[in-house]
Amino acid sequence: MSFDTLGLPESLLGAIARLGFETPSPIQERSIPALLEGRDLLGQAQTGTGKTAAFGLPLLARLDPQLKAPQMLVLAPTRELALQVAEALETFAYGLPGITVTPIYGGGGYRDQLRALKSGSQVIVGTPGRVMDHMERGSLRLDQLRALVLDEADEMLRMGFIDDVRWVLERTPAACQLALFSATMPPAIKTIADQHLKSPEWIRIDGGAASTGERIRQRYWPVAGINKLDALCRILEAERHDGVIVFARTKQATINLAEQLQGRGFRAEALNGDMPQAQRETTVARLREHRIDLLVATDVVARGLDVPRITHVFNYDMPTDPEAYVHRIGRTGRAGRDGEAILFVARREQGLLRGIERTTGQRLTMMDLPSVDDLNQRRRDAFRDRLSGALKHAETDANRALLAELSQELELPAEDLAVALATLMFEKEPLFLKAVPVRAPREMREAREPRAKQGDRKPAGKRERKAGKAARPAGPMKIYRVAVGETHGVRPGNLVGAIANEAGLSSAQIGVIRIHQDHSTVQLPEALSAKQLHQLRTARVCQKMLELEVV
Ligand code: ADP
Ligand code: MG
Repeated sequence: MSFDTLGLPESLLGAIARLGFETPSPIQERSIPALLEGRDLLGQAQTGTGKTAAFGLPLLARLDPQLKAPQMLVLAPTRELALQVAEALETFAYGLPGITVTPIYGGGGYRDQLRALKSGSQVIVGTPGRVMDHMERGSLRLDQLRALVLDEADEMLRMGFIDDVRWVLERTPAACQLALFSATMPPAIKTIADQHLKSPEWIRIDGGAASTGERIRQRYWPVAGINKLDALCRILEAERHDGVIVFARTKQATINLAEQLQGRGFRAEALNGDMPQAQRETTVARLREHRIDLLVATDVVARGLDVPRITHVFNYDMPTDPEAYVHRIGRTGRAGRDGEAILFVARREQGLLRGIERTTGQRLTMMDLPSVDDLNQRRRDAFRDRLSGALKHAETDANRALLAELSQELELPAEDLAVALATLMFEKEPLFLKAVPVRAPREMREAREPRAKQGDRKPAGKRERKAGKAARPAGPMKIYRVAVGETHGVRPGNLVGAIANEAGLSSAQIGVIRIHQDHSTVQLPEALSAKQLHQLRTARVCQKMLELEVV
């Protein structure tokens, strides 16, 4: 099957060739002829199936370049999506002189949008709210409209735009062609389809509903043993990846997590709805241009994001429902590539995991975290390759001469100098992870791990504080982790003060505190209230959030 046989004009075939599309995707194969004929369409397909071209190419082909008025309107749930669709339509319209595309969305300046609308732009792509605005102001008139597209209709429903969408629908000319795309078909969308589509071509791809692309491998990790941040870092270190999206639940969480990942050497940035539009666009562009690799995002802003280099989607925090999950993982496996989706599931979240499996009709496979041994083996091999690679550089002579000279001067063999160099290299950041002694045989390591944990609970080491003997805390205690450590300049006294004040605990309820490099552990009552937990997560010490969590 090729694009030539679908009935598209030459002018558009040229643009398709420039884009490098070789064969139409299934939804394109079926939508293009139907829309070219002027029929209405109901398209149910996952993200990443090529819907933009499926409606964009045939509908653009039907526009009149001489007529300077809105002829095609696309409604999309978010500004990001509207911009993305507008950009794609612009590239399709490359061979159609006189056709211009205008994105209109909330947060964008009115002045530019008004100017573009005044100039007679034929294709408008917008978010429902802003489109309504312009219609009410009279700056957007739909009397010449030939086609209306509802893109990601289920998302518009989820985001509460359904009344706006209906309002727009009721104000479009009766003869207007209508295409509705949705990954899922909730009743409210079905109703709109039934009321407004005229004997539509109904296309379902991939078994419809919330099925997920087969190109995406879906796994889950039951959160246990180590914290989610460490787990994420381990997986990222062990798996070959390019672009990565990490989903977090709240705006604040995206910021914290992005900072933590930066602290661990990843090129990560947050993307959330508090950021001004321009900054959000820059951040996505930076991901696209390989200037960063990780985006830590909330659902809303990442919806529909189309960056082909995304190899991994992490559900760091659970999605709120199965449909959000489907949309999240649709950010990978784009444009015919393979993708990986990894879900972190705490014990109490297992019900949602089952819900996801039911909705997608696919089982997620459980994954083991890469072990410290595996990671260290990798680090060792990578170091080996770096060394042998360095010797292949053209310019090693000067270094060779320098080392020969120093070796004589220090009366040390080259081997000792190599050891010294390696020591310097790993001074700040050791090559090997230390969770278990690297060279210990397996039996020993297993016998050791439980003991090492116990050691945490026992007061030992220089920077510790004992719970007052006289006032023994009542009730069971637990070890919590806080995100401030030696590097932030924290002292046990700061922590006791902050914790006592923020959570209203007496100092007797605060047990052993151990300060580590980049975090600390503190013993607190097991039965902290949700309010206390919240206060301790967000309290600041040494200008850092505590981010208290159970170890
Ligand atoms: P959807 O709207 O279904 O999520 P998009 O229209 O955003 O999907 O397309 C997803 C990606 O696939 C885009 O990067 C797009 O350029 C690419 N694409 C679309 N159609 C084709 C095709 N026929 N061949 C190759 N790539 C395509
Ligand atoms: Mg799309």
